[in-house]
Amino acid sequence: MSEIPPYWIDPKKNQFKVTITSAKKYEDSYHVRIGEDVIRPAGGGQAGDRGQLIVDNQRVQISDTISDSKGSVLITDNELVEGATGILEIDMDWRLSMMKNHTAEHLFVSVIKNKIEDIAVGNLWIDGEHGSVELLKSKLSLDLIYATEQEVLEIIDQDIPVTSKFVASTCIDPSTRKREGLEEKHDMLRVVNIGEMDSTACSGIHVTRTGEIGFLKVIDVKMNEKATQIEFLTGSRAAVHVSEVYNTVLRRKYSYPFEIEQLGAVLDRAKQAVEDRQKLIDKVNHLLSSGPTIEQIGKVSFRHEYLSGYDASSLKILANQLSTDEQSIILLFNLGKKSQVILRANGMPLEASDYIKGQVIKLGGKGGGRGDVYTGGFVDVEDPMNLYNTIVSEVRKLIS
Ligand SMILES: [Zn+2]
Repeated sequence: MSEIPPYWIDPKKNQFKVTITSAKKYEDSYHVRIGEDVIRPAGGGQAGDRGQLIVDNQRVQISDTISDSKGSVLITDNELVEGATGILEIDMDWRLSMMKNHTAEHLFVSVIKNKIEDIAVGNLWIDGEHGSVELLKSKLSLDLIYATEQEVLEIIDQDIPVTSKFVASTCIDPSTRKREGLEEKHDMLRVVNIGEMDSTACSGIHVTRTGEIGFLKVIDVKMNEKATQIEFLTGSRAAVHVSEVYNTVLRRKYSYPFEIEQLGAVLDRAKQAVEDRQKLIDKVNHLLSSGPTIEQIGKVSFRHEYLSGYDASSLKILANQLSTDEQSIILLFNLGKKSQVILRANGMPLEASDYIKGQVIKLGGKGGGRGDVYTGGFVDVEDPMNLYNTIVSEVRKLIS
């Protein structure tokens, strides 16, 4: 490398006089080369720069910058004349966001490596929207990832300087993080330092102080047997995202209502409700297709079923619907931490409560009812299925 390109030493410089050296149509776009090394192509896990080329009165969009063996290629949406000169304007929204994302990635990896030393970095992708880093270590806990995020936020606040320098590959400090085999490929390596805390060989574009990152938010974590993939946003993109999520919650805080601190419990309850509903649908389907479980004990038909997601009054309605003219006992049980039971006696010599009351009290429940219907309930049930089976077998004994 004869001269250090401006994107490494002055990444906020965004306008350059350039000469078009070649422009060729390639499928739906144009591949344009310029004489100056002033726009950074994709590479090292970072996306290419975007921008515009202004030649005479023509504005041509650069949607991406890539590189091949001959240098950088600007992907444009329109044709340009070879030999023309013009102004190159870098898309600074895209670039500044990449700078924030890339420095945030270095910080995140540095902090998490302080916690678990043998974490290596796998695939990396940084663009102007988001960053994504694969940590080659399985089953990293979410708590560890959130603690790392918290520490990175503190370092952002400390506004530590970010600097870069060129070091001969043979003189690289052993503490500098680098990809395997990088020293063999290059004589000189660019090393990016964040204060005294992190040193990484990197060809990416970075902010000059950690404070410029503004904010970091991990927005997704995917884990498999070999690696943990972390996706994150920085700066205003992170702030807007967090704000949107918060407002989604805030909108429901009043109509639900709940306190924001209880959001976790509210979501757990919603998940439970969805699961209960599915169990209920399965059970109702079963009841519709095969009817309730029926045991014939002498002249008495003993029908019993367990369900989930029912309250006492719904159980009562269902018990009425299942009742028959023959001598029968219908026992319905709603399974849950709070369990309800209803027993309906049709044409039986004793009242409904005589078949079940003693058992409900013995098992720590409460209940009541006169005539042919008895309802009972239990709280803090550890094993609802076991409770159901116990009651069924006791009722069966009393019927016989
Ligand atoms: Zn890097």
